[in-house]
Amino acid sequence: MDKKCAIVTGAARGIGLATADLFLENGWQVAMLDRDGDALLKQTAQRENVLALVRDVSNPQDVNAAMRETHGWAGRIDALVNNAGVAEFGPIDGCDFEMWRRVMETNLDGVFLCSQAATPHLKETQGAIVNIASISGLRASTLRVAYGTSKAAVIHLTKQHAAELGEHGIRVNCVAPGPVKTKLSMAVHSPEIIKSYHDSIPLNRYGSERELAEVIVFLASEKASYVSGQIVAVDGGFESTGVGLP
Ligand code: NAD
Repeated sequence: MDKKCAIVTGAARGIGLATADLFLENGWQVAMLDRDGDALLKQTAQRENVLALVRDVSNPQDVNAAMRETHGWAGRIDALVNNAGVAEFGPIDGCDFEMWRRVMETNLDGVFLCSQAATPHLKETQGAIVNIASISGLRASTLRVAYGTSKAAVIHLTKQHAAELGEHGIRVNCVAPGPVKTKLSMAVHSPEIIKSYHDSIPLNRYGSERELAEVIVFLASEKASYVSGQIVAVDGGFESTGVGLP
């Protein structure tokens, strides 16, 4: 039988890259999508069983082309990981409409567009979608009016899709990461935020990309065959405590 095929968006670095690597280790083939062509091609050049898709998840033409290309390459699509994301933090009166749109276009529109375009292919394989939200979508805190709202919407979109696509055998789940040291988080986590996370996370540390990838790949796999519509916080226990952030 052909190898299973996953599409991972935002796969040029960070959590997406770790997820692509773990799928490959588990014998899948992976279509790695990212709008940063230089970074993506550097990563895919070193890997086998990989298709590089230099595409933007917020562009409907790009997304449709990416699904067509992936299906033409692998003959199947078994899993979609909606991981591409951007973070911009700022107070409500400092979040202009351009910032709001930039965050929504990638974090929310991208998840909607990729899921919609992948659905006909996932119906054929009874495949799975894993969305990457954030603990900022579970709990409100300062500075995250756009980011937190985009991730809360992804959490609800997960439930909508799970409700509607279950009859086709498609499972849809969501991972809500706690803090992980990546380019995205290091650009927006001030020293105050870093200290606060360390103090308020029961495990007292940031997570690693690999720790996130393990849960994402599990949810995409047959091992999670009766899990759908779930939001899994991979956050060192943060969500269970109720302790606030600055
Ligand atoms: P990262 O910045 O290291 O990687 C994100 C990748 O997505 C980059 O390669 C970037 O080029 C790509 N990307 C961004 N917008 C895109 C678009 N429109 N089209 C295609 N590619 C695009 O970030 P990361 O920390 O690995 O984050 C991955 C996901 O995890 C994001 O959805 C993020 O919101 C979420 N997350 C991260 C953290 C954290 O602390 N790092 C915490 C919670 C949630």
